[in-house]
Amino acid sequence: KKRNPGQTEFIQAVQEVAQDIYEFIADKEEYHHYQILRRIAEPDRIISFRVCWEDDSHNIRVQRGWRVQNNNAIGPYKGGIRFHPSVTESVLKFLAFEQTFKNALTGLPMGGGKGGSNFNPKGKSDHEVMRFCQSFMTELYRHVGADVDVPAGDIGVGGREIGYMFGQYKRITNQFTGVLTGKGLEYGGSLIRTEATGYGAVYFLQSMLKTRGTDLEGKTAVISGSGNVATHAAEKVTQLGGKVLTLSDSEGFIHDPDGIDQEKIDWVKAHKTKRRGRISDYAREFNGATFHAGMTPWGVHCDVALPCATQNELLGMDARALIAGGCIAVAEGANMPTNLEGVHVFKEARILFAPGKAANAGGVAVSGLEMSQNSERRAWKEAELQQLLLDIMEGIHDRCVAYGRADDGYIDYVKGANIAGFKKVADAMLAFGVV
Ligand code: NDP
Repeated sequence: KKRNPGQTEFIQAVQEVAQDIYEFIADKEEYHHYQILRRIAEPDRIISFRVCWEDDSHNIRVQRGWRVQNNNAIGPYKGGIRFHPSVTESVLKFLAFEQTFKNALTGLPMGGGKGGSNFNPKGKSDHEVMRFCQSFMTELYRHVGADVDVPAGDIGVGGREIGYMFGQYKRITNQFTGVLTGKGLEYGGSLIRTEATGYGAVYFLQSMLKTRGTDLEGKTAVISGSGNVATHAAEKVTQLGGKVLTLSDSEGFIHDPDGIDQEKIDWVKAHKTKRRGRISDYAREFNGATFHAGMTPWGVHCDVALPCATQNELLGMDARALIAGGCIAVAEGANMPTNLEGVHVFKEARILFAPGKAANAGGVAVSGLEMSQNSERRAWKEAELQQLLLDIMEGIHDRCVAYGRADDGYIDYVKGANIAGFKKVADAMLAFGVV
């Protein structure tokens, strides 16, 4: 805490991991001697820079951008860029730290990083977003590269923003390389990247349910968020026979007891991306649905829950409400949506609980596959990628089980993910000596 004053999100993320790692390394002298955990928790570097741009009314705006390059022991830095007013250095440090473990868990050669800005794309015109993205990349380009650091999208950064940033990178460097992932299919993007995080989280949920001899058929699901991860998680739950009851955004949640089927999901996707609308409009569009302003959906009775919006959106009391409502499994589509108390509540109740670093790794995994396709200069087929995503999610599940099984047979996925991710990065760092 003394070393990182005021960085609550970062401290929270490190504390959660450290508890499990200390137990694992208790009898492993090398990891202690070489201060491996401390080194992973100190980013390789943090780049902070000014982003200056002009809005449509010709006002000059000055904002801050960051890239946190946490660790590149097993591959180039890799992790998303977030544009949201809540972005701070602490938030990006926590995300880059978590990303290091997540990327290791995928089994692909990717280090951990994260970046972003406190820029709020909401309410901005396309031209304003373009000018901001170009200005952001005008500084970032000197710190990234296909073999150095490969950013992707995150909250507030989708296909449109990646396109503007990639265009600017190409213009400045005169190089067409795979410097960003999440690109459009016309210029080096990969099939199924858009769907991968949400679909992957549901595949992981399915693997967890299998350990209890059940699946998603006929189950009810509560989902938060209405962005990329949430809508694709909803889509996959529906495809696998489940019924999605809720979606949300930063203004509240909608509850549709009839179920949010594919047609309704398509409406939400178009409404949130093309029309940049609010989820509250859903209740006006579809009979029987209700909007609950300023609330999260965890009080709605369900069999499974997928928090897919943002960090710390599911607290201890919410975890208790979910359990009281019959929930048996939770898979985090977002990064750290459940706070520490919530995680303890789930674990104590022996609920199946998958942390984001395991359950939402499908997105970065397909980003890793996009990097491979860019290096090969070819595009793989959809069926091939779908199978690879499924295999990778099953592989992550197996790694969590290998390191997370408790004496009573309960699988502690948090512990399993922390230890499996740590071990891979730590062993690479040991091989490099003190650097
Ligand atoms: P989007 O920007 O597409 O959607 C984010 C959703 O979360 C929106 O519905 C948004 O509502 C809501 N939200 C954002 N901030 C808050 C807040 N402070 N309180 C309540 N709701 C909020 O982002 P993604 O779907 O891509 O990302 C969602 C989560 O998943 C993030 O934690 C991200 O880091 C994580 N993730 C994403 C990956 C990806 O491939 N996209 C990969 C791995 C993790 P509103 O419209 O009102 O802002």
